[in-house]
Parts: sequence; C-alpha cells; structure tokens
Amino acid sequence: MSGDLIRDAVARSASVAEVMIGRGVLADAGTLYARHFAGPVVLMADERGWGAAGAAVEAALTGAGIASRRHVIPATPRPKPTVDLADSLRAVLKPGETPIAIGSGVMNDVVKHAAFTAGISYMCVATAASMDGYTSAGAPLSEKGFKKTIPCRPAKVLLADLDVIAAAPPEMTGWGYGDLAGKVPAGGDWIIADALGIEGIDDVAWPMVQGGLDGWLSQPDRIAAGDRDAVEGLFLGLTLVGLAMEAHGSSRPASGADHQIAHLWEMDDLHFGGERVSHGACVAVGTMASLRMYDWLLKQDLTTLEPARRAAEAPDLAAKEADIRDRFGPGEIADRAIVETRAKHVQGAELHARLQQLRDAWPHLSARLRARLWTADRMAQHLARAGAPVEAADIGVDPDYLLRTILKARFLRSRYTILDLLDEIGLLDQAATAALPGATQSKVGT
Ligand SMILES: [Zn+2]
Repeated sequence: MSGDLIRDAVARSASVAEVMIGRGVLADAGTLYARHFAGPVVLMADERGWGAAGAAVEAALTGAGIASRRHVIPATPRPKPTVDLADSLRAVLKPGETPIAIGSGVMNDVVKHAAFTAGISYMCVATAASMDGYTSAGAPLSEKGFKKTIPCRPAKVLLADLDVIAAAPPEMTGWGYGDLAGKVPAGGDWIIADALGIEGIDDVAWPMVQGGLDGWLSQPDRIAAGDRDAVEGLFLGLTLVGLAMEAHGSSRPASGADHQIAHLWEMDDLHFGGERVSHGACVAVGTMASLRMYDWLLKQDLTTLEPARRAAEAPDLAAKEADIRDRFGPGEIADRAIVETRAKHVQGAELHARLQQLRDAWPHLSARLRARLWTADRMAQHLARAGAPVEAADIGVDPDYLLRTILKARFLRSRYTILDLLDEIGLLDQAATAALPGATQSKVGT
C-alpha cells in the first residue's frame, strides 16, 4: 500500500523521477541510471557506504557500459553534514559528470547540496533506513555553526536494495525509527498551528505522513531484528515523508519541536561514546521531550486562560532578543535566532486575540491532539524495542543540558510549535521541567 502511495507521490513530484525499492536491486543500478541520465558517473561515498554497496553499483554501471570513477572519503571520524564538505565534493565534479551518492544521511545530504549548487541532478543509492532525507527537497547542513535546512532538489532517482538496508548496523535502523517517531509530535505541532490559524494543514502532505505513521511504527521488535518486511515498511515510510516535504515545500510535515531540540545538539556537535550522535538519535530524544510536554499540556485546562492579563505580562520582542543573546551568547547563531524569532513573534492586541482563540478552541483542539498523539510512555517503549535512544542520558545529555536545550529550541526556527504555545501562555518553564526524565506530571492553575 505504501508502495502505491510512493508511486503516486513520485508521479506528482517535480524532481523525483523514479524510486526503486526491492531485494537485489543493486544489480539494476546501471539500467536505472541509463533511464534517467547520460554521461559518466562519479560515485561518492564514505568508506562505510562504499563497503555496503559501492562495488556492486560500480559493477552494475560497468555492465551497462557506463563509465564511472570513485571518490571515497574516510568514514572515521564520521563525516560531518556541513556546507564545507558539500563544497569540497562539488569541487571534485568534472563537467558532464553525474554524482551518485552511496550511503545514508550525511552522504546523501552533502551530495544533494553539491549537485544542487552545481546546477545538476543526482542519483542516490541508500544504504540504511536511517533518516527521511533521501527524497526530501532540503539538506539539513551546518553553515558556520548554524544548522539549517537548505532548500535543494531531492535525488532524481533513488535506489534502495532491501538486502543492503536490512543488513545495515541495527543502530542505524534505530535512528531511522527515531526520525520517523518524531512525526508523531510534529503532527501535534502542525495541528496547533492549524487551529490557531498560523499554518494550515495541507491535505496532500498530511496524509502522506500521518496516514501510515502508526503502522510503520508498529513493529519495533522486528525492525530491530532486521526483519526485511518490517525494515521495508520503515524505509517506505521514511521515503514517503521525504516526498511529503517536497510536496509541501517545507519540512513542516516532518519536523517540529522534536527536531528543533535535536538541531541544537547537532549544532553543539554532540558526541557520545567517541562518536558524533546521529540525527535520528537526537530526534528520538527530542521526540520524548516533546511528547512529555504534550502529556503535561493535555492535563491543563486552557479554557481558564486570561488572555488580557497574559498578553499584558508576556515578554515583548526586545525582551526576547535579550533572552536569546543571554542563552546563545554573542555571535552569528544568536543573530540568526533573532531573525527566526521575529518572524513568529506576536505581542499586544495580536497576542491577546491569539490567546482568546486558543482558550475558545481548547476543548476541540485538545481532543484533536489526543486523537493524534502518543503518550510519552507508549513512545518510550516503542523506541526502546526498536533499539533507538529514549532518555537524554542515552545520548550523553544530562538533565540540566536537556532543560537548557528545551528552553531555547524555539528560537532556532520561525516554525510555530508546542514550545511557542507554552511560551505564549507563560507555562514553558513548568512544562519543560515536567519533560525531564523522572519528573512527576502535575496540573497547575492557569
Ligand atoms: Zn529528521
């Protein structure tokens, strides 16, 4: 069923021409390439990705009479998703060559950016169900320390051999599960933005992600065991999410507070156990933080909000800017955070009107949220069974660092999420404290 949805989404896509997912399909790499491209190939991989699929892709190209050369970079330390790395790959491209990225998240993102800035399209051979970016139109990369999703074109052609994907290290599949789990609270964030008239739900992209989500997440044990059918479901889900972002024109269908929290750790270049903590691992922990705040929020009665009083006491833009400089320190990251925050800041009469709307909508909005969201406990059990991190400690983040991250994550993006709603009603500190592992959940007067 997800396969049909992918076919429909590819047919609608402006950039993705073909997605081939199946067992043993690496052997089709040459004919697949020839259907969509012409000219010689440069195969771009790190040593790990090359080891997973490089030789088979190279042989398939040779078999189809396509000239290729290799550009393989070291796998240790794990390559960083930066604009600098993407630029260095673009510099390797010769006129007329098409890059084929062989690998998972980082390799795909940097080749995506390199190809886009070179004005050409590329093909991707996925080696792990580790994230949702193969078919998405953005590359989340750091530029001068600020992690942002840079608009790009997705891979024109995606090839995913399930024998390769299922044989990837189980932790990588756990990362993909974590990235997909983030779509649960991200859906909640979009419901909030929709209900408050800030960013309406898109009837095309929403069902592409939320329609199959619970099903894709329903078999964590089999995914952890590398069961090909379960891993195929995960990969199809991640692929559809990528296409949904392209269809919508932003990452809104796939990313909310969970990703804002994760991006801060990625910008801090978080390491644990000697390795850089992956995107999906950060998102898994961000997802838990977001769902714990939702659990807390849904215990509150926002029909007792006092919009006039709250609008009068809420911080104005200057106070927020001072807060940002205080939390981020001086420099470019704070400058960019201020720009993002300005774009969504409201105060005075505008905030008053929004809070009235929230108060009036709360019975219906809270019911919509309950119908879509998972409890944090349910998600914790699923993440653990999938082999994904659950608690901040699992990625080397202590409670104080987690709390600081939650409290500043909203400044990173103009996208409105549960963090903004909590801030606007003056309850972010309490909700964030409730989101710390082991915190007892309580109800407060509003
Ligand atoms: Zn993600």
